[in-house]
Amino acid sequence: MYRWAYGGTRYISLLPGNVNRLVFLDRDGTLNEEVGYLHEESKLCILPGVPEALRKLCAAGFQLVVVTNQAGIGRGYYPEEDCRKVNAALARELGRSGAELSAFYYCPHHPENGIGMYKKECLCRKPGIGLFLQAEADFLGWPGAFTAGASDLENHFVAKMMPAGAFVANVSDWENHSMAEPTPAGAFTVGASDWENHSMAEPAPAVVFTTGASDWEKTEGYQSLMRLSADEAACLQEENRRDQRYKAFLRHCYMIGDKLNDTRAGHAFGIRSILVGSGYGREEREKARPGDFDEFFETLGEAAEWIVREERNSSLTD
Ligand SMILES: [Mg+2]
Ligand SMILES: [Zn+2]
Repeated sequence: MYRWAYGGTRYISLLPGNVNRLVFLDRDGTLNEEVGYLHEESKLCILPGVPEALRKLCAAGFQLVVVTNQAGIGRGYYPEEDCRKVNAALARELGRSGAELSAFYYCPHHPENGIGMYKKECLCRKPGIGLFLQAEADFLGWPGAFTAGASDLENHFVAKMMPAGAFVANVSDWENHSMAEPTPAGAFTVGASDWENHSMAEPAPAVVFTTGASDWEKTEGYQSLMRLSADEAACLQEENRRDQRYKAFLRHCYMIGDKLNDTRAGHAFGIRSILVGSGYGREEREKARPGDFDEFFETLGEAAEWIVREERNSSLTD
């Protein structure tokens, strides 16, 4: 369960330790063989050792989030539907061997060669960090509870962060707050029973919002484009980062990819980043500038072992 409170202008984690551990993974060349604009399930080939590596990370308490540039969509080589089919097939196949992927985020854009709406200087194409921010908003905000003071509610920031219709509130608390004021269009549903069904470890604060897993599943949120506005992304990027507990969350997140754009994105997001030797990894390593990545490992298996070791060491000093 994720529980974050909205206090003042930033999110504050109410979670104990190791629930919020995420490993961000590139897809092509990292999890599956790089074949160039993969869009057919029949060409999907999971790299050796990958299921075992991911299982190890799951066992260490990580949720696994795929962040992938899919400019082939923007270039008109294949539709989004194909990308989603490949993602689903990958999740299915890995799931069969006990490696659970939690979500996919993909960027369909290309700044020069995109066609129509896909030609865009977007925030989500790695080394941009939009996909990471979207995952952060989803994973830290879902399926937990948000608390807000009356004054915080008025600026409606929390509401903007969540999908429309995804909120329930404790009726008595809700009534204490003057709900004569207009609420964001369609953003709230109020139901005491909803709230009571949602088990709370702590007494409900002033105004409480929860989102349910079913909302997420309905929207196929496990495969998603970036939905944050530029303002919301900037807000997440700027304000959360001043919070000490947020920094602690980042210390337990990692990025693994086979391109410098992967590791640079991880660094821009503020997390340790590993370049793997599969896919383009070895040639990318030759092109690296100092500080482009933290570690290089030939395989995802070695990367996973390193992360598990790091976590073990840090739990001794935390
Ligand atoms: Mg790659
Ligand atoms: Zn994009």
